[in-house]
Amino acid sequence: MPVLVMKFGGTSVATLDRIRRAAKRVGVEVAKGYDVIVIVSAMAGETNKLVGHVEETSPLFDAREYDAVVSSGENVTAGLMALTLQEMDVPARSWQGWQVPVQTTSAHSAARIVDIPSENITRKFGEGMKVAVVAGFQGVSLEGRITTLGRGGSDTTAVAFAAAFDAERCDIYTDVDGVYTTDPRICEKARKLDRIAFEEMLELASLGAKVLQTRSVELAMRYNVKLRVLSSFGEQSDEAGTLVCDEEDIMELNVVSGVAHSRDEAKMTLVSVADRPGIAAAIFTPLSEAGVNVDMIVQNVSDEGRTDMTFSCPTNQVKRAEEALTKAKDSGSINYHDLIADTDVAKVSVVGIGMRSHTGVAAKMFKVLSDEGINIKVITTSEIKISVLIDRKYMELAVQALHDAFELEKAA
Ligand code: ASP
Ligand code: MG
Repeated sequence: MPVLVMKFGGTSVATLDRIRRAAKRVGVEVAKGYDVIVIVSAMAGETNKLVGHVEETSPLFDAREYDAVVSSGENVTAGLMALTLQEMDVPARSWQGWQVPVQTTSAHSAARIVDIPSENITRKFGEGMKVAVVAGFQGVSLEGRITTLGRGGSDTTAVAFAAAFDAERCDIYTDVDGVYTTDPRICEKARKLDRIAFEEMLELASLGAKVLQTRSVELAMRYNVKLRVLSSFGEQSDEAGTLVCDEEDIMELNVVSGVAHSRDEAKMTLVSVADRPGIAAAIFTPLSEAGVNVDMIVQNVSDEGRTDMTFSCPTNQVKRAEEALTKAKDSGSINYHDLIADTDVAKVSVVGIGMRSHTGVAAKMFKVLSDEGINIKVITTSEIKISVLIDRKYMELAVQALHDAFELEKAA
């Protein structure tokens, strides 16, 4: 029998009613002849509540016990989903991560899946079970301890199961009806995409389109798992939602597929650092050791042996970055005149696979921003993305103007 993976996020299983509704969708796929693996999240809000309990009990918690507690929300939904399916006469049972087992590294609260042996579940399918309901987000380490995969991790569980079982598709049921050209809350002309390439989705996901956990897209790309994002409240047809797939499966590639934004960015500038071999390493090593996620980096032309170094990082890591750099200065490993943090910036990016073969996207983007009177503070590019840092108060305007200029409201 072909295998289908269906993942239901927290809002899709928020109440018993919604679990029933989700179970009906599962029933439809079973009737089509699939063996279905259902991956469930915890009921909406449940994981946050459990994290709160842990932090209140033990501020410097033991990460192994954190995982034991926060993984439990998924156990409840897995059992309830299996019961609901049984009530509908669909042969189903639940599996916690350790029962499969979903083997992971021992990096508690951020574990990676190492292996998913398929024997146990496949044997059950052979015995007539139609649905395996698996608790997402969790696994078991080599030491036999319960682990979790990081917030939003049940997307990754779903893709990993689709890869391990060679599933025909991995359907991610969520509270939005697909992936949009940009955030519909910012731009009312945002359009739902029918298809988007893995690389593009990866850029959009890491740029703050919070539809899918970034790691799940990486995994889907590596194993060529067809991923479909769709609403559990909307229509159900094979065309619903957005298919995230290999670019070869997309007929008409857009030059620009989407405009992404990230509101909480900060720009940090080290003024007048000695320009010598090793200086970048001396600056960015302590930052990485302090866990600062540096994104854009710009080094100025040097003047009389000194230069300015600018980088961006999330606003909530500014303190950490300042501490790390001050410490490095005190220890003598770097030397700068001033450290300036600008915490009122946002990042706006245009993303599209077609950029590989089309010129002029950057020029057009800069012209659009200049026509709106928006000053660009930092620019970075990759093969399929151009990002700029601008004043945060212009973020919405920039997104709307770019969406218009690249005519993203029209399908290719
Ligand atoms: N329940 C977990 C979370 O809220 C995992 C997930 O839903 O993906 O992060
Ligand atoms: Mg999620």
